[in-house]
Amino acid sequence: MASKEKEFQNEKQVFSEHIQKAGLRNTAQRELILDIFLRTEEHLSSEDLYWLVHKEDSSVGHTTVYRTLKLLTDAGLAREVRFGDGKSYYEHHYNHEHHDHMICTECGKVVEFFSPEIESLQETVAAEYGFRLTHHSMRILGLCGICQKKDSESAASGAQPRVRVKSVFS
Ligand SMILES: [Zn+2]
Ligand SMILES: [Zn+2]
Ligand SMILES: [Zn+2]
Repeated sequence: MASKEKEFQNEKQVFSEHIQKAGLRNTAQRELILDIFLRTEEHLSSEDLYWLVHKEDSSVGHTTVYRTLKLLTDAGLAREVRFGDGKSYYEHHYNHEHHDHMICTECGKVVEFFSPEIESLQETVAAEYGFRLTHHSMRILGLCGICQKKDSESAASGAQPRVRVKSVFS
């Protein structure tokens, strides 16, 4: 879609401006990392992104990917999200509507949702505590529909639910 191409052009512009302000050079490796990040509509850990980049250019190291993700976050292109498994994930931020996450603690499925009621309630609660809300990250942990079914089928298993966020490679 033509508009998609244009969107990427804007994001590339934002990134190169940020890079210049930070006094850095825009290298081919950084451009490749940005490109792959923009093409992937997923919640990616630094490690996930590293493997996607590695497939296209095996000379790019973990540190370069990690530092570039930090640059993308500082530039407002990426947003860091946490799903409770101790890892940081990154998703698109620029031109993306705010949303929150529901995470299945059994299979790691991540559902994005938006509730205007919850959003405005957070403002109300913050104000009640004399807090000025700047940003928030709301996550709901539980079992997805499929895992609930599995759960009732094997109710006697006694297995403990774990947070296993789905990787793009699973
Ligand atoms: Zn929210
Ligand atoms: Zn599940
Ligand atoms: Zn998300």
